[in-house]
Amino acid sequence: MVRYAIVGAGLAGVRLATALLRHGVSGTDVMLVDADDPRRGSGAPAAILHPFPGRTITPKGDGWAEFRRARQWLEGARDLGFKSVDQLPMVRPLDDPEVGAKLRNSWMDVESDLPSSIDGGIVPGTELARFGSVPTDAGSALWYRPAYVVDLNALVRWRAEQLAAEGVAFFEQRVESLQFRTSPAPHWRFNSDEIPIARELVLSAGYGLHRWFPEIATSGTGGELGIFRPGSRQLDVILNASGHIAPTPGGDWVVGSTWWSPSNRGGRPEDAPEPARSLRRKGARLHSALDSMPAREIWSGIRLSFGDHQPLSGPIPGIEHAHVLGAFGSTGLYRTAFHAEQLAGFMVHGHELPQLADPRRISTQKWSPNPAFIHR
Ligand SMILES: Cc1cc2nc3c(=O)[nH]c(=O)nc-3n(C[C@H](O)[C@H](O)[C@H](O)COP(=O)(O)OP(=O)(O)OC[C@H]3O[C@@H](n4cnc5c(N)ncnc54)[C@H](O)[C@@H]3O)c2cc1C
Repeated sequence: MVRYAIVGAGLAGVRLATALLRHGVSGTDVMLVDADDPRRGSGAPAAILHPFPGRTITPKGDGWAEFRRARQWLEGARDLGFKSVDQLPMVRPLDDPEVGAKLRNSWMDVESDLPSSIDGGIVPGTELARFGSVPTDAGSALWYRPAYVVDLNALVRWRAEQLAAEGVAFFEQRVESLQFRTSPAPHWRFNSDEIPIARELVLSAGYGLHRWFPEIATSGTGGELGIFRPGSRQLDVILNASGHIAPTPGGDWVVGSTWWSPSNRGGRPEDAPEPARSLRRKGARLHSALDSMPAREIWSGIRLSFGDHQPLSGPIPGIEHAHVLGAFGSTGLYRTAFHAEQLAGFMVHGHELPQLADPRRISTQKWSPNPAFIHR
C-alpha cells in the first residue's frame, strides 16, 4: 500500500505528484491511476500561458504567484530538455470597442505596479513590426511578455515519464468505485479489488469529478483547437482577440477556440458546428490567410469549472483522507503548478491552503458523492 493515490494523471495529477516529491515524499509512496481519456483538457496539442488570462489586466486573487510558479515550471522543463515550448510576445489588438477599452484602461491602471519580469505597452499597430511578422491591421494593440505556447499533451507525458523514473507507479485503469476501510488502518481500495491501495486519496479527474459529485456546481465546457499548416507564412507573436492564433513549437499554427457546452446546449461534441470551418472563420478575423489554410488536426477536449471560477484544491469536506485538485477551467497551465504546490504543502506538512480555492468554501452536504462511486 502506498501513502498517496492520485486518480487522474492529467496536468493536475502529474503536477501534484511532482510537488509531493519536492516536499520530500518518496516516489515509491505515490501512485497515479488514469483512464487515458482522449478528451482530457491536458491532451491539448498547443496551450497558451500568459500573465493576464481574461478580459482585463487587473490582478486577481493569487494571480501573480500562480503565473510565477507556472513560468518557473515551464522554464525548468525547458532547462531539462523539454523542447515543445516557445516563449513569444503576446499581442492583443484593441479595436473591439468593449474588450479593447477594458484592456487599455486596466493596463494603464496597473502598468506602474507590474513586476519587473513583465515587459509591455500600448503601441500603434504600425509599430508591431518590431516583433517580426505580425499580420494585423489593428489601429493599436497591447503587447506584453513573457507568454508561452506549449504542447500540453507532450508536457504531461514527458513529466509522467520522469515521475516513473523516480519510482512513481502508474496504472492505466478507469476507477469506477472507491471503498474506504478503517481496519486494520484507514485505507482506500479501488473498484471491487480487495487490495488496500493507499492511505490518502486525491481526485484530480478533470471532467470526471462532475459525475462523482453531482451536487457541486461544476460545469464542463468543450472546445476545439485547430492545428493549421501555414506553409511559408510567418508569425512571430501570439495574437489574441476573443480567440487566438499562435505559432506552435512544431512549426504549425494553432487557432483556439470555439466551444460547445454540454450544460447550456445539450448534445455531444460531435454535434458542434463543423469545427475546422468555425475555427478558420474565427482565426481569419485575426489573419486573413487562415481562410485558405489546410487543417492538420482538429482536437477537441473538455475542461471543468466551478461556479465561482476558482479551482478546487484541498480536503473534501466530510470524507476523511480524501482530497480534490481540479476545476481549472481554461487556465490549467496558469494555475495547476501553484495549487499543486499548496496542496502538497498541506498534505505533507499541514501548511495553510489559499482560501479562494479551498473546497471547504462549499457546504459539506454538497460534497455527498454519488453513492455508486464512494462506499464508506
Ligand atoms: C479546447 C481547450 C483549450 C484549452 N486551452 C488552454 C490554454 O491555452 N491554456 C491553459 O492554461 N489551459 C487550457 N485549457 C485548459 C486545460 O487543458 C485544463 O485546465 C487542464 O488540462 C486540466 O487538467 P486536469 O488534470 O485538471 O484535467 P484533465 O486534463 O481532464 O485530466 C483528468 C484526468 O483524469 C482521468 N480520469 C477521469 N476519470 C477517471 C476515472 N474514472 N478513472 C481514472 N482516471 C480518470 C482522465 O483520463 C484524465 O487524464 C484548454 C482546454 C480545452 C478543452
